[in-house]
Amino acid sequence: MARTPDPRIERAKTRTMLEVLDKLKVSGLTAIGDERVGPCPRPGCGGRDRFSANVRKGVWRCRICDPKGGDPLALVQLALGTDFLGAVEWLEGERGVEIDPQEVERRRRAKERADARTEAQAARYREFARRQAEKIWRSALPFSGSPAAAYLAGRHVDLSGLPYSFACFRYLPVHPYIKKIADARRELYRGPALIAAIQGPDGRFSGIHQTWINPDVPGKKAEIVDPNTGDNHPAKMVLGSKKGGAIRLTGTACTSVLVMGEGIETTGTALVADAVAGASYWAGIDLGNMSGKQLGRNSGVPDLSDLRAFLPPACVDHLIYIEDGDSAPKPTRAKLTAGLRRAMNANPSLRAHIARAGDGVDLNDLLKDQD
Ligand SMILES: [Zn+2]
Repeated sequence: MARTPDPRIERAKTRTMLEVLDKLKVSGLTAIGDERVGPCPRPGCGGRDRFSANVRKGVWRCRICDPKGGDPLALVQLALGTDFLGAVEWLEGERGVEIDPQEVERRRRAKERADARTEAQAARYREFARRQAEKIWRSALPFSGSPAAAYLAGRHVDLSGLPYSFACFRYLPVHPYIKKIADARRELYRGPALIAAIQGPDGRFSGIHQTWINPDVPGKKAEIVDPNTGDNHPAKMVLGSKKGGAIRLTGTACTSVLVMGEGIETTGTALVADAVAGASYWAGIDLGNMSGKQLGRNSGVPDLSDLRAFLPPACVDHLIYIEDGDSAPKPTRAKLTAGLRRAMNANPSLRAHIARAGDGVDLNDLLKDQD
């Protein structure tokens, strides 16, 4: 009988999120559409609503211990603190248990069909989001002299007087905060916002990064509270694609040194401080984009099969990632390291390093504390 080397692995990969949640006896989850929201099943993590699993897409994430999350097999690893093979063994039993190859094949096909459906739906949504982002970008007002510029100045990122056009920034005075909750798009808030254009690796517009600001207190973000549930939501949101992209504060002109922080504020702080004269300053939007996938949790080793992560343009021969001291140190360091290694793999003559802002403070806070 023809058999794969360890058929349990193929079979384990076809386990659905529902099966895994059930077998793990994850309790306390609330069903909202396809989402199951509740405490994180990793021992010691817990909480109330930090964990969510999508039973249709077969993905989960935990805001605290793993914002990127993973598939059902990764959930078994998280919940039981075991490795990949340990998770397979727990799901499928000891090696040598006979599994009907026809059943494995049937499950594999069913999963393939489900994946194709999910991917088609995701592609439709991406296109919808990109068009929405473009519409918002076109409707937005100039940044210079706006409350958005005052917000950044309030964060000690005063860009006026710098020799750049900051064409990546715009401003909207009355911008709705729309969130997809349980498959319905709801407006939770409306107010002034800093709109930043995200440019893909090819330099083309790929989406927007939105920061809702408190117009009464320069330097403060808006407080976004769901009027129905009282839940707080982050004042920043990306619409469209950020993958492989960046917010190019100093414009698209290519320089040999590229300085990249995660957020606009951190990157802007380094720019205002003129940390590296003549360098480009781009914001990487999130650490996951700067890092790409890793081989193993917090390994710092890039998974080179991830082709959508950020890579510096070919003209860059020195890449500097700014480490925010206020993020969790170990995962942050691993992500930055993985990203730099990925970039060096693509360009072996690239020099790359991490600039630290100091323990427990990000570069931006550091500057604020000086006065
Ligand atoms: Zn967790």
